[in-house]
Parts: sequence; structure tokens; C-alpha cells
Amino acid sequence: MAKLYFNYSTMNAGKSTVLLQASHNYRENNMQTYLLTARIDDRAGTGRIASRIGISAEADMFAPEDDLFGKIETRLEDGPVAAIFVDEAQFLTHEQVWQLARVVDDLGVPVLAFGLRVDFQGNLFPGSASLLALADEMREVRTICHCGKKATMVVRQDATGQVLTEGDQVQIGGNESYISLCRRHWRAAMGDLPTAKTLG
Ligand SMILES: [Zn+2]
Repeated sequence: MAKLYFNYSTMNAGKSTVLLQASHNYRENNMQTYLLTARIDDRAGTGRIASRIGISAEADMFAPEDDLFGKIETRLEDGPVAAIFVDEAQFLTHEQVWQLARVVDDLGVPVLAFGLRVDFQGNLFPGSASLLALADEMREVRTICHCGKKATMVVRQDATGQVLTEGDQVQIGGNESYISLCRRHWRAAMGDLPTAKTLG
């Protein structure tokens, strides 16, 4: 039976590597997969899912206004797919997560979504909140903090290595970088995130 899977992680845990390996396993057995990733800027054309260890694959892109049920139905007219993989699933809208659930239930195709659980301020991404609510199965793609504990949080740094405590949830085209930390070291890096911010 087809299921909706949510594979969640923090930054740099290798979720794209896991996605690409899983897709490869299907293709190696002569089964087709359909890959989707978020369009996070205005670049047109084909998307690409790339992993930090150097492997990549072409992918179709989704934008917030896209009807993913329709998009996937159209793809299935070209031939069957054994599984659908969605990278950057934190950028899905709530409605799009429901569209993926309908793909699973009504079209019988498994959907494996991969995304970040929380942003740099420790808040759930909208797509991840919906996936946590609706997925049939959830798996954590793990990575570790510099202390050796499991990393569940992420800090955003500017180009000089300064930790940023404020800003938009999604930043595009900047020089910022991200480091994954355990909650204790994330609190230390963020100055324990003042109450005003957690309430704001
Ligand atoms: Zn730590």
C-alpha cells in the first residue's frame, strides 16, 4: 500500500543524498521515479537535486501556487512511476501536502518527502508542520553536533561567522551559512533566544 513518508532532518544531514540513493535504487531495478524540488528563486528551467557528496539528479520544480496533484497526474500520463520524491519539502504549502496525500490515497503512488523540520529560530516550517500532521510514516535523517550529540537545531551565520537571531525564515542569495547543533549548543549560540522572540 502506498504511503506518504516524511524524512526530516536539520541542515547538512545528507537528506538529499538519502533521497538520491533511494531514487537510484528504484531506477537500477528499471522502475521510474519522479523527482520534485522547490523553486526558491526566479530561475526558470529544470531543477536539480544535488548532494554535498557530489551526486545530483534532474528534478521538476514546484512553486507555492502549483497544484501538485495535477502536476503528478500529468506526469503519470507519460508512464507509471514507482515513487515520487520531493526535496525541500519544508517549502510545500499546507494545501500541497494535502495534494500529495491525495496522490498517495487516490493514485496509489508512494510519496517520499524530504525536508528541514525547523528553521534557524527553532520554528517549524509550514510544509514540515503539515507533513508532521499528515504523513503515514516519519523518519529522521540524523547528523551530529560538534559535541557528538544528535543535532536537531540549526543556526544561521552571516559571512563573518556571526550568528543571526533575526531575519526571514527563507533567505535567498545571501552569503549566510548554516550549522547544525544540539539544542543546548543552539541555545548557547542564540543567547538562549529571549522570551520576546519566542512569543513574537
Ligand atoms: Zn552540542
